[in-house]
Order: sequence, then C-alpha cells, then structure tokens
Amino acid sequence: MDINIIDAHTHVNMMDPTQRSAVMQRALDGGIGVINVGADELSSRDAVALTQIYKEGVWAVVGYHPHEAQKDLNMESLQELARDTRVVGIGECGLDYFKLDKEKEDEIKEKQKVLFESQIVLAHKLKKPLVIHCREAFGDTIALLEKHKDLLLPEAGILHFFTGTIEDARALLNLGFSFTFGGLITFNRSFDEIISHIPNGRILVETDAPWVAPRSHRGQQNEPSYIPEIVESLALIKCTPLSEMKGVLLENTKRIFNLKF
Ligand SMILES: [Zn+2]
Ligand SMILES: [Zn+2]
Repeated sequence: MDINIIDAHTHVNMMDPTQRSAVMQRALDGGIGVINVGADELSSRDAVALTQIYKEGVWAVVGYHPHEAQKDLNMESLQELARDTRVVGIGECGLDYFKLDKEKEDEIKEKQKVLFESQIVLAHKLKKPLVIHCREAFGDTIALLEKHKDLLLPEAGILHFFTGTIEDARALLNLGFSFTFGGLITFNRSFDEIISHIPNGRILVETDAPWVAPRSHRGQQNEPSYIPEIVESLALIKCTPLSEMKGVLLENTKRIFNLKF
C-alpha cells in the first residue's frame, strides 16, 4: 500500500459504526494513512479495533480526554490497551478550561491536572509520544510539561489543533513538541501567522473528523479523505511547493509516532 499523507489526529472510531469501514476505505484508497485517537475507554478500544481490521496504514492513540477527569477512570485498562504495538501514542490528554462550571472551577482544574500527569507518566513508561488537547489552558499545560520535562521523549509528541500564541509555541518547541493543524486553516486566516513561525519539520496535519470539515465540505461531516485540501492550504501558508510539503509532513509523522512502513 502506498501511503502518501497521514491524517495524524482523527476519530473514525467515534463515528457511527455503520459508517466506519466506508470512511476508512475512502482514506486508504486515496493513499491516506489514519491515526485514530481515543478520548475515553470505549473510543480508545474502538481505535485499537480499527487497527486490527486493516493490515497497513492504520494506527491508534489511546487515552483519557480532560473532559473525563470528573469520572472514575481505570488507568490499568488504559495501560493494557496502550501496550499494543499499533498504539503509537497516548492521548488525547491535556487540559481544557473552556466554559468550566464557575462554582467547581478549581476542583475540575485540579482533577484535569492529575489525569494529565498520570498520562505523562504512562507515556514515559511505554516510550510513546503524547497527543495533547489544550483549550484555554496553555499556561498550566506548559507549566506541567516543564515540571515533568525529564519524562518527555526527545520527540515529545503533538499539540493537536494548536490555538496558542507564538510564545506558547516557542516553549513547546523547546520541550520537543510538534503541532497539528486542521480544516480551520482552509477558511480562517487567523492561524497563518503562528504557522509561519513553526518550522516545517515540526508541523503535521489532522482532520479531527468528524468535526470541522475543510472549506469545500463545510457544514458536512468531516473525514480523513479530505486531508489533501488541508495539506494544500498549509503548503500555501508555508510558501512551500506542494510535493515538498507532502514529503515533509509524511516524514514528520513517521518520525514522531515511530511508524514503520
Ligand atoms: Zn481535542
Ligand atoms: Zn480530537
């Protein structure tokens, strides 16, 4: 199989089960590899299940999203799942302070931090990169990562759909992180500046499907087969020839997630 592009962060595992095989096949037929990311135990299991259906071009990332922090979570079953060789990262984990319940704000933030730290430790133990979700919480996210700097891999992982500032990006680059960008960059110019500050070697593309489809499919359900449009936008923003951009993105994804194919 010829994989030319990899959707580095997507959730076919969260789509309606009746849709999944057609969506996966459309991606693979287009030479598009897929990394399905979990957010809770069920979606993590489903991400791993998808790797078992396809011989090549499909990987999983397993973990607990910060929205799960209020629940009673089983870290042992996550660890078991994460040992699978087709599991190439831990996440999506991180901090999400968007629209927190004001009355419980401090308690929720504390719980999110504990959950995030336990996954930083797990990633270290299994030597797999982190896939980080961070929304309106860059200060605390960077502080936690700096505190656990010694646990990070040289290729520490990715900040998925990065919305931080140039200073945030600099701190995260110094810690060994890379960044994914998705459908928004095809119709919203407010990410162009931050993208221009991140070296080509530290950028990946994602669809984060089924959410935020690129321009030509706006309002529809997103899927990995739409990733070429995001790559085209990125090449324009980076003033890099499309074929070169594709090559760099593929190399970055293979290197960071240690993909063998
Ligand atoms: Zn996310
Ligand atoms: Zn996601």
